[in-house]
Amino acid sequence: LFEGPWDFVWASTKIDDLPTMVGHEIAFAGRSNVGKSSLINAITRRNALARTSHTPGRTQQLNFFRQVGHDERLTIVDMPGYGYAAVGRDKVAAWTNLIHEYLRGRSNLMRVYVLIDARHGIKDVDGAVLETLDKAAVSYQVVLTKGDAIKKADQQFMLEATYDEIKRRPAAFPEVLLTSSDKGLGIPELRAAIGRVLAE
Ligand code: GDP
Repeated sequence: LFEGPWDFVWASTKIDDLPTMVGHEIAFAGRSNVGKSSLINAITRRNALARTSHTPGRTQQLNFFRQVGHDERLTIVDMPGYGYAAVGRDKVAAWTNLIHEYLRGRSNLMRVYVLIDARHGIKDVDGAVLETLDKAAVSYQVVLTKGDAIKKADQQFMLEATYDEIKRRPAAFPEVLLTSSDKGLGIPELRAAIGRVLAE
């Protein structure tokens, strides 16, 4: 599923600007700096597909990636990072609106992967996003990032603590994954999880 090169195909800042739905779509969401770009690059094996370490809060857009030669198979969507305090209120409202519209109308969206920093766990701002996904009845799975930055014992603790927080949420897939883009931890497992969703 992830063999072969991926390409950036489209960026949307407005809801009337989304690419036509083809095949299945999965999306990645998370706070600015959570390691979203790094994780997308790790699962697609492309070093600079999603730009890493960009200035947080720059132009908020939905970025669409597809595999060269397999345009109809899978689209990966990089959702704008949230929770960056310095972004103005107007901008927050604009992209919250874009996200709501996107989630509401995207019938080929199979699952949203909500990334959570393994060092911090689920914060209020993340909880609000999970709430939005529950309300929109969009299936999502929580993925811990930067797992290498905490000790083994803490990894297990964080997995269990995070699971406790999502287990009663209606749209949450009842399994939390721990990953590290830097160390390749959990990347095969995440790819396999995505493969299972698409095979459903
Ligand atoms: P984004 O803003 O969510 O797209 O995050 P980036 O992928 O740009 O990463 C933000 C910062 O976290 C950068 O300084 C990365 O080097 C760092 N980072 C990303 N992934 C990992 C990881 O697996 N482990 C560690 N320790 N740091 C990471």
